[in-house]
Amino acid sequence: MRIVHTPDSSRHDPERYMRRGAPIPHPEQAARYAILRDAAVRGGHDLAEPADHGLDPIRAVHDPDYVAFLAEAWARRDAIPGIGDEILTGAFARPQMHRKPAGLLGRLGLYTADTSTPIRAGTWAAVYGSAQCAVAAADAALAAGHAYALCRPPGHHAYADSAGGFCFLNNSAIAAERMRAATGGPVAILDIDVHHGNGTQGIFYARADVLTVSVHADPSDYFPFFAGYADETGAGAGAGFNRNLPLPPGSGDAPWLEAVEAGLALIAAHRPRALVVALGLDAAADDPIGALAVSRGASSGRRSGSPGPGCPRRWSKRAATSARPCRTTSRPSSPPSTPRARPNAAGAQKVPSARCPVQGAQCKVRSEAAQ
Ligand SMILES: [Zn+2]
Repeated sequence: MRIVHTPDSSRHDPERYMRRGAPIPHPEQAARYAILRDAAVRGGHDLAEPADHGLDPIRAVHDPDYVAFLAEAWARRDAIPGIGDEILTGAFARPQMHRKPAGLLGRLGLYTADTSTPIRAGTWAAVYGSAQCAVAAADAALAAGHAYALCRPPGHHAYADSAGGFCFLNNSAIAAERMRAATGGPVAILDIDVHHGNGTQGIFYARADVLTVSVHADPSDYFPFFAGYADETGAGAGAGFNRNLPLPPGSGDAPWLEAVEAGLALIAAHRPRALVVALGLDAAADDPIGALAVSRGASSGRRSGSPGPGCPRRWSKRAATSARPCRTTSRPSSPPSTPRARPNAAGAQKVPSARCPVQGAQCKVRSEAAQ
């Protein structure tokens, strides 16, 4: 399989992270890139570095001002007296605060959700390179049937205009939009990371041409907390085109496989021309997080259905984002119905959070209603 990677991924090297009130070594370490790359080499795959497709594919899903901020922040660091080897703030904009400050720290608080995404000397090179891997893998998948993007830093917690959860640019969304534009759509994203893909949901929440499906741990007491509930199903033209399948912590193999099967059935009903799999591996029992306790056997097990002709019939345990086109030709006229999905009951009964997953005006309406 073509695996697209870049050594620039290791240039983002955060050192510290606050977890439950205590500083720990940052979990999203630069070494992740080399570990995944070396595994791909051992697997005999076809490794390639991406061409530079510029900012246009990134701006296709991200706010241009946010992208410019990420690109320029490190060069502006001298504006902060006493700045060290990373730019980080502890002051973040709440939904009730709408002003756009000019200063670097204020702008950082506007564009980030937490303290997991410090900006360092090599951060932009890494996140830009990771996004280019997604673009190149999308193109490779359209040409060859499948491809794998080794994306580090990761991306699925990044909204159109904000970083968070170790993520800066949403690689899955960039790949999906790339393939939607190339094929005429529709396309789908299946996110099986143990954490809800809140940024991906936010980017496509009001769109019918990108179905987003996420299987993850119930966010009622788990990151990202403020999105990922089963009743978040899309808005406006996107109503019915976002599906969350939250599972109780420690669910194990059977509920996880059932949720993935349900997600695939939803995707099959959508008849996508391409599929992006956001392939976080932290649902695995032997992952340091392992919150859903999924065994290696389950994560590589054969499933009974197929999302569409030409799509793979076997799940393999790979990291990062995989782009897989499906040779389907027609577009659904209505949102896919839920065939066998049995999301966590508590999640299904959750009312919308004050922090609405939708960016923009519709988000404000729902946020105010929730308050
Ligand atoms: Zn995760």
